[in-house]
Amino acid sequence: MTTDAISPPPRPALRVAVLGAGLMGAPMARNIAAAGCQVRVWNRSPDKASSLAAPNITPAADPAGAALHADVIVTMLKDASAIAEVMSALPDADSVPAASVCWLQMSTVGPADIPGLETLAARKGLTLIDAPVLGTRQPAEAGQLLVLAAGPDSTKEAVQPVLDAVGKATRWLDTAPGTATRLKLALNSWVFALTHGAAESLALARGLGLAPELVADTLRGGPLDTPFFQIKAQAMASGNFTPAFTIDNAVKDSALIVGAAQEAGVRADLAEAGLTRYRRVQAQGHGGADMAATYLASQ
Ligand code: NAP
Repeated sequence: MTTDAISPPPRPALRVAVLGAGLMGAPMARNIAAAGCQVRVWNRSPDKASSLAAPNITPAADPAGAALHADVIVTMLKDASAIAEVMSALPDADSVPAASVCWLQMSTVGPADIPGLETLAARKGLTLIDAPVLGTRQPAEAGQLLVLAAGPDSTKEAVQPVLDAVGKATRWLDTAPGTATRLKLALNSWVFALTHGAAESLALARGLGLAPELVADTLRGGPLDTPFFQIKAQAMASGNFTPAFTIDNAVKDSALIVGAAQEAGVRADLAEAGLTRYRRVQAQGHGGADMAATYLASQ
């Protein structure tokens, strides 16, 4: 008997729909395809989807076309209202085959948005996995995101190849959606505090007649240093605000944090002040700049 006779048949490639090809969705789609999945990608502005075309990435004309026959649907869209708009365009459950399709919802939303997403998933016959990510554009390009996941155990095997393609690790937190989103907001609260803290420290140095770079140089390698701080301080000192995470999304997420804190009865003074700074920079016309542009809010 040859070994060929006992080899299992090759598994068909996982079919993955990626809805949203922005700063994060585009590299995630590329990495999912590079892991051997068949990807259909849709984006509201079609050029971002068509520029991803490759042997196993097919741009789709609409969300339903991207999701047709998908095993897993990934949403990486701006916010809950964009998600609702896009996912509503998919056929309802009674008009599609009863196959169990997993919906990896990876955009950042608020805890208050989860029940609506669950209702939408039920209407579309999808199993919702709440799976926001930590990490900006560069980790997304490198497939090094940290995925926070909350969803039924029965979905893990089906979605893990997709999560492994986009991330360095997945932290499964719960079997019910919502826990991952709550943790994501708590983590973003720290990310924003760090970014605003760096911005005010560098701006103060400059105001006191010092080179802002002195702050980052002095802290480098010490207990107060982090790679994230160095990257953002470098952006602030150089004025290069090429976006990894936009001010527009920072306004959106800061508002989610403030709203969730109010709902939980937690005073979030820094998050409120940070939201004011991000809105000020947005009003100055820098909504598409990187969140490090909070530096400009000190002027
Ligand atoms: P982005 O570059 O601004 O992309 C946003 C995406 O949402 C684009 O595909 C955009 O389409 C789409 N969109 C917005 N409104 C829409 C609507 N009404 N209908 C349909 N599509 C709509 O943002 P991103 O950085 O990729 O972030 C995507 C999500 O991940 C956000 O929830 C963000 O908070 C979260 N996130 C971002 C980072 C990061 O570092 N960038 C990290 C973790 C999580 P168009 O191209 O047509 O505008």
